[in-house]
Amino acid sequence: MTPGSLPPDRLEENLADAKPVYSQADAVTEANRCLYCHDAPCITACPTGIDIPTFIRKIGTGNVKGSAKAILSANLLGYSCARVCPVEVLCVGACVYNEWERTPIAIGRLQRFAVESQMTTGGAATLFAKAPANGKKVACVGAGPASLACAGYLALEGFAVTVYEKREMPGGLNTSGVAPYKMDVEGGLAEVAFIRSLGVDIRTGVMVGRDVALDALVRDHDAVFIGVGLGADSTLGIPGEDGPGVTGAVAWIERLKLEPGFAVLGVMRAVVIGGGNTAIDAARELAQLEIPEVSMLYRRGEADMSGYAHELHHARAEGVRLIERAQPARFEREPHGALTGVTLADGRTIACELAVVAIGQGRLRDLAAQLPGVAIDAKGMIKADALTGATGHGKVFAGGDAIGGELVVTAAQDGKRAARGIAQALGIELRADSPMRAGHE
Ligand SMILES: Cc1cc2nc3c(=O)[nH]c(=O)nc-3n(C[C@H](O)[C@H](O)[C@H](O)COP(=O)(O)OP(=O)(O)OC[C@H]3O[C@@H](n4cnc5c(N)ncnc54)[C@H](O)[C@@H]3O)c2cc1C
Ligand code: SF4
Repeated sequence: MTPGSLPPDRLEENLADAKPVYSQADAVTEANRCLYCHDAPCITACPTGIDIPTFIRKIGTGNVKGSAKAILSANLLGYSCARVCPVEVLCVGACVYNEWERTPIAIGRLQRFAVESQMTTGGAATLFAKAPANGKKVACVGAGPASLACAGYLALEGFAVTVYEKREMPGGLNTSGVAPYKMDVEGGLAEVAFIRSLGVDIRTGVMVGRDVALDALVRDHDAVFIGVGLGADSTLGIPGEDGPGVTGAVAWIERLKLEPGFAVLGVMRAVVIGGGNTAIDAARELAQLEIPEVSMLYRRGEADMSGYAHELHHARAEGVRLIERAQPARFEREPHGALTGVTLADGRTIACELAVVAIGQGRLRDLAAQLPGVAIDAKGMIKADALTGATGHGKVFAGGDAIGGELVVTAAQDGKRAARGIAQALGIELRADSPMRAGHE
């Protein structure tokens, strides 16, 4: 599954896969525990509406190809979702086994088994028949999960789709951000290769708004999908923040995953500032890199944290300490600049050589806001119709984090909805067996 251009010697290679792919025997054994519930609550809980009992039953009967087709119809990004979805609060959390305090079905691991089996044999691209070219052209801005889903579905339906990605490495946060113990860069790129194999043209190193004008894309295409995600890490704006040893979390994780030779040297104590999932991810990554002391500093109490309780539980098991009611006031440095600690509003100083700031990401307002009719809400998100992704501009659609999403699976569903919305707006009737018809509305 190794895509050619992956940089060597990356720090993420030191982090082990937390849920390795099942063997066929393990997959069949787990599949056979499923009760194939009528009105299955796991389907309702999946944002894309994958027919979970059907794909599990197909694994149980040895029809892995049919299983992968059932998954990927409803969610073309079913591979990454199998690996990165917070299943504990989605499908697995809804499994009826929980009601009897029995171990729920490992839906994510079964899904990974089915899709990965198809991807490694090169069979995934042969699952769907493509519609003949329909003469319509669509551009997608950004090569993250939202655009990749939108582009893949449209390509299968006969659209000519070009994706423009400003980074050299496509995949969005699936490639540059998700924790390596869930999915490494290789996994993210393998999924991009699958979307490419459906006929999508993905051009990397092209920033829309700098290398290509957005209004030119709108002029030259029948529709444009905006899936640009969010901007750079937010900063605290406190004294001592600029300088070595203090970094934004998303930027740090990107280096961990992608930068050849990146290392965390001379760090005995690290703090992560924030209480969300990115903060917990960064803390777990530092702990797994064997930094002896890793603390999370959160300004309120544990009950107020937006990060998942199950993730915090894992972080603690790996040695991460949570310090509650910890509001950073300034960073402390040696006269020559080296970071020595962070002082809190209550006067406590937490010693550290590395501080990772995980308090959110900025918004990429400017790009979309230049188009007439495209509105931005008070939170800096693009306003888009929940069912079609349509904005106030007739040719422009949007989805993913740029419209307020927070997960890969919601970005994938946004992409599918926008693909349907674009087909409808352009008068293209979906085939009876179009994968775009599968899953939730
Ligand atoms: C550190 C971290 C860990 C996460 N872990 C998980 C997880 O485990 N599970 C989960 O479900 N979700 C996770 N998320 C959230 C998830 O990654 C996002 O919700 C999802 O990636 C959003 O997809 P997207 O396509 O909207 O945006 P993105 O994934 O951000 O992709 C947007 C793409 O657009 C590109 N782009 C931006 N501007 C331009 C431009 N002008 N021209 C061309 N290209 C442009 C960007 O370079 C990027 O590749 C995580 C987020 C972070 C920050
Ligand atoms: S709820 Fe659990 S047992 Fe029922 S169909 Fe879904 S995975 Fe199977």
